[in-house]
Amino acid sequence: MNINNKFSLTILGGLLITLATTYYLVINHSDIKKYKNINIIKTQQLEVLEKDSTDLEIAYTYKKKYEMQDGETFSQILKKTELNDNEIQKIIELTKEKVDLNKLNIGTRIETLSSIKNDDLLIQNIIIYPDRESEIFLFRNNNKFEIKSNLLKLYPELVYQEVDIQNSIFESLTNVNTPENIIMEFVQLFSFDIDFQREIRQGNKIKIFYKKFNDEKQNFVKAGSIYFAEIKLHNHSYELYRFENENEKLVGYFDSKGKSATKALMKTPINGARLSSGFGMRKHPILGYNKKHQGVDFAAPKGTPIMAAGTGHVEFVGNNGGAGKYIRIKHMNGYKTAYAHLSEYASGINKNVKVKQGQTIGYVGSTGLSTGPHLHYEVWFNGKRINPMTMKLPSGKKLENNDFEVFLNLKEEINIKMNKNS
Ligand SMILES: [Zn+2]
Repeated sequence: MNINNKFSLTILGGLLITLATTYYLVINHSDIKKYKNINIIKTQQLEVLEKDSTDLEIAYTYKKKYEMQDGETFSQILKKTELNDNEIQKIIELTKEKVDLNKLNIGTRIETLSSIKNDDLLIQNIIIYPDRESEIFLFRNNNKFEIKSNLLKLYPELVYQEVDIQNSIFESLTNVNTPENIIMEFVQLFSFDIDFQREIRQGNKIKIFYKKFNDEKQNFVKAGSIYFAEIKLHNHSYELYRFENENEKLVGYFDSKGKSATKALMKTPINGARLSSGFGMRKHPILGYNKKHQGVDFAAPKGTPIMAAGTGHVEFVGNNGGAGKYIRIKHMNGYKTAYAHLSEYASGINKNVKVKQGQTIGYVGSTGLSTGPHLHYEVWFNGKRINPMTMKLPSGKKLENNDFEVFLNLKEEINIKMNKNS
């Protein structure tokens, strides 16, 4: 993208924001009776956009929106605008090179931005949104139209990866160029089932199948969804498939039997991606649960965000002797979780405040009786501390009836695509 592109994008962006925010304020502006059926917006950005105007005249931008109707063609829409036939011809030629005009969907949005010249609207920009990911931008330059299109055009790519875990999941997946967002999401999916510090061993295997979006030069732009994720521990294997029902009322991850990945509490209430395995940790004793200790420790750098392991209410927040800065959350059905040795609390974390599962509540530190930065995590059930590693939580949602049928089909589809990509 060259500087000109960026420049016009910036202007356009500013323009669109201004348009959006002033839309309702100016719709009935009084001195524009001639165009009272359209939205007229006073904007300063246009002075930059329209380089010809050298005087101090106030510039207005006029925005019109069109939506492609059933049976309508692109040129029919252009005929509804203030463009003349020559211009329409030129615009069709330019646009044809960027998108197949015969394949524009019903509902495709087209916008025009105009200035006013001798009481007439003069279209300066035409923006076409052929799909969610892209826009085509036409602009008038020295009275000729130019196209700077596909600025947002993204190319989806399905990626299947299999890796052996070395030091940490983060490092292992970064080495094969898995996008960071995908790594975080992957770890989050398993944080209900896996204790990332004690259960992950060198050589454990990960499989992952996801979508990412690239630009036309194959440079990574953004992460899409994970469709399949698997971790093979030495004696246990966890695999999850993405499920989405038609109306998107339900999106989630389920094992092959249709049981939800999400549970009431997390085993690892911290970003597990960067945690190194409990083996080989020398500086801090990595303690598992035993009578004396009654919690599990996660050694992590100071400042690492700590999440609420489940939804609930903050029951205690403050200094708590040897536990240092400490938070305790009360959940449903007799469960509580506690977090000790924090360096800081997240803002807004006060007594009685409601917290959602996964919300950041504080940060790893070494306050109280602690030998180094770590999170000491406890789970309480009916007033007694229990072992988070072996706790049997009431199982999460299970897909049933029609949803389960749909899930099985989706799962099959994912398996087929995955085989093609591996
Ligand atoms: Zn501890």
